[in-house]
Amino acid sequence: MNIKNNITNIRLTLPDDVELVVVSKTQPNDKLLEAYHAGQRVFGENKAQELVSKHEVLPKDIQWHMIGHLQTNKVKYIAPIVTLIHSIDSYKLLKEVDKQGKKIGRQLHCLLQLHIATEETKFGLSEAELMEILEGAENLHYVAIEGLMGMATFTDNQAHVRKEFASLKKIFEKVKAMKLPNNVQMKELSMGMSSDYQIAIEEGSTMVRIGSSIFGERQ
Ligand SMILES: *Cc1c(COP(=O)(O)O)cnc(C)c1O
Repeated sequence: MNIKNNITNIRLTLPDDVELVVVSKTQPNDKLLEAYHAGQRVFGENKAQELVSKHEVLPKDIQWHMIGHLQTNKVKYIAPIVTLIHSIDSYKLLKEVDKQGKKIGRQLHCLLQLHIATEETKFGLSEAELMEILEGAENLHYVAIEGLMGMATFTDNQAHVRKEFASLKKIFEKVKAMKLPNNVQMKELSMGMSSDYQIAIEEGSTMVRIGSSIFGERQ
């Protein structure tokens, strides 16, 4: 795999207002550095410990995004270094993020992850749970909610994937039209991975999370 070419080619297909998060989970640091030298600064990891240890040794101008399921007891490790948490899937987790943000005097930027796939294995909030969290968010001064995230079902059925992304975009627009607390904004819609990012962009994604199309299949 030529990482630099892959990144360049993907960037060429992305509209200017869509951010590329390069998903570097399980990849060794030399691969991340190749992406870095191709100009990439935004990386996504799905494990707190891996994010922390990569941050320690890699260039300090990298922006680290947490994209995977996050346990409450791990929030404290990433709080000082994470740029965006995509995967808030409970109010309990959001409260912990607020608590850790307060401790270090840093407002932490988050997306709320919705469950849009028909697969039960995926994490994420129902629409009803989302509405509850939005009501409670007002009291959490150390979190800034910037939008929503979702993962489509892993299937070759493109129409099915499109329907799931469209359902997330619809919720995004609905929330955007609501009266929201000061620390909630609907700016970012994180959807799309290697297999489905083109569909996601057509359905309104502002942030795609791409790993295997850049680095090759993970071991
Ligand atoms: C691994 C992962 C991705 C990237 O998947 P690829 O198919 O390798 O592009 C995107 N989002 C999340 C949440 C992931 O865990």
